[in-house]
Amino acid sequence: RGTMTVGDLAKLLHKDASEVIKKLIFLGVMATINQEIDMDAIHLIASDYGVEVEVKIPVEEDSFETVEETDEDENLVARPPVVTIMGHVDHGKTTLLDAIRKTNVTGGEAGGITQHIGAYQVEINHKKITFLDTPGHEAFTLMRARGAQVTDITIIVVAADDGIMPQTVEAINHAKAAGVPIIVAVNKIDKPEANVDKIKQEMTEYELVPEEWGGDTIFVEVSAKQRIGLEGLLEMILLVAEVNDYKANPNKRARATVIEAELDKGKGPVARILVQHGTLKIGDAFVAGNCFGRVRAMVNDKGRRLKEAGPSTPIEITGLTEVPQAGDPFMVFEDERKARAIADRRSIKQRQSEMGANTRVTLDDLYSHI
Ligand code: GDP
Ligand code: MG
Repeated sequence: RGTMTVGDLAKLLHKDASEVIKKLIFLGVMATINQEIDMDAIHLIASDYGVEVEVKIPVEEDSFETVEETDEDENLVARPPVVTIMGHVDHGKTTLLDAIRKTNVTGGEAGGITQHIGAYQVEINHKKITFLDTPGHEAFTLMRARGAQVTDITIIVVAADDGIMPQTVEAINHAKAAGVPIIVAVNKIDKPEANVDKIKQEMTEYELVPEEWGGDTIFVEVSAKQRIGLEGLLEMILLVAEVNDYKANPNKRARATVIEAELDKGKGPVARILVQHGTLKIGDAFVAGNCFGRVRAMVNDKGRRLKEAGPSTPIEITGLTEVPQAGDPFMVFEDERKARAIADRRSIKQRQSEMGANTRVTLDDLYSHI
């Protein structure tokens, strides 16, 4: 399963195997008649003969995005909320993310080497909060466009010495469209020209009305630079999390979303992912977008190696065969063969949708031979 031999392909195409082998050699693939070739090669050869390949994908095999979460309530356990910080440029997002991260560097963690893995976790009152620190808007837009919902709560940062700006509005719209709770962090309150009431007033135009004015939006006044109000902000996040009761089942195969990925010179393809359901373990076979792999190593945001990672944990993993894309869904399968087959199918599907109208059913029994 997973691939087919050169001989099978030749038969399917009603061609001589030797001819197919010649074409393969021309494509740089050295193959013998009994050798298994991958989907890329099958596709190339078929199209070279003017045969348009469309692979029928059995529904149950392609359940990647559509797997129902059928967890019984008793299997669900509280998980940390996942928070995104958005707002207009220069209103203090990066400073706030850095300040929050440092707030938590205590005791045992102090010696650890923190590293950028696209997200980090802090702990307050023995409860964890996960912050995504990928460049806010683009990542959020990209992930939403790809159907990935990773955020539970959005913090909208507005500078108290400025006001609501185009990207503030964009952030509000994103959060509303995603249906996630908003906490407004009015930043730079240390500045003499800060005017918190003006910000609150402007926010009411976007139906974000502070609680003290009879609304239900939480406003927190902070100075990211002077580190004022940060604990209050974290406590408010925990409050919103408690109300929304975020849960996941840690006792099943992991599902995650790719936050960032790149080719590292030393480590090969690395992906920073956020585990959302289940628990990811070293050695797990997985599919990430159209790529597959087996978890070789996992590192958290404190640079610590992990053997496993549960819901809401951001980690960097190695063991991929290729570099996936931000927003790609990530899912563990029972073994590497299965993962490879699913990744192949996904590549084909993507290629087909890219080819769009050019694709017709001409070889739809191809997969019955595989
Ligand atoms: P971003 O574009 O939203 O990521 O904004 P940055 O975090 O890069 O901040 C933009 C500028 O505002 C920087 O010069 C920060 O030092 C400054 N800044 C951020 N937060 C505060 C604050 O609370 N008070 C003051 N006075 N300056 C701040
Ligand atoms: Mg920034």
